[in-house]
Amino acid sequence: MVRNRKLDRAREHMVSSQLAARGITDERVLAAMRAVPRHEFVATHLRHRAYDDAALPAAHGQTISQPWIVAYMTQELLLGEDDHVLEVGAGTGYGAAVLARIARDVTAIERDPDLAAEARRRLAELGVDNVTVVEGDGSRGWPGEAPFDAISVTAAAPDVPGPLVEQLAAGGRLLLPVRSPGTGHERLVRVTMTDDGPVHEDLRPVRFVPLKGEHGY
Ligand code: SAH
Repeated sequence: MVRNRKLDRAREHMVSSQLAARGITDERVLAAMRAVPRHEFVATHLRHRAYDDAALPAAHGQTISQPWIVAYMTQELLLGEDDHVLEVGAGTGYGAAVLARIARDVTAIERDPDLAAEARRRLAELGVDNVTVVEGDGSRGWPGEAPFDAISVTAAAPDVPGPLVEQLAAGGRLLLPVRSPGTGHERLVRVTMTDDGPVHEDLRPVRFVPLKGEHGY
């Protein structure tokens, strides 16, 4: 792990200028974004850009999401400290590390075996012990660990995958980008499992890589 004061200052600046200044008000989320070293999740040659207000390329044509969207999704999942969380699209493992600062534990699914192995290695190196990275098609959820209090999907789906809704606990929240077939526009949607069944809310426009698999593209 690289201890670098310049990067630490850049991260602090990211939290105040990109997050706190732009609608991230949950102190637990700000603390998590302060604590997780994003520069450890990007390639060495991109480290100096780790705290930029942007998504960055990751291995295998994938991306590590913009810090703001990671913080926003974490905030809008309305996490409790005892929550059992599923992340679909573990990628670098960065988002899972942020979720794991707030929730009890996180199961993070990644379909690409190389990315999954790399995320697992990185999280272990950073001493994150409440994230389990598993390999598979996350569009089907992860039934063996269900139900989940919160599910975060970091790749855009053509529709809300049925299995993910079915794997929500009572009161559980599912957050995912849904792409509209006509325009290609993506909206972040929150599905909450209420006593009367799932309730959908439209949150905001977003941009993600496509979700693959049975309930993806
Ligand atoms: N949360 C990540 C960013 C993920 S980018 C981070 O913080 O770094 C989206 C990821 O979703 C990619 O790694 C892609 O391989 C993965 N993905 C796409 N479809 C998937 C599926 N059906 N199941 C699991 N992972 C999937």
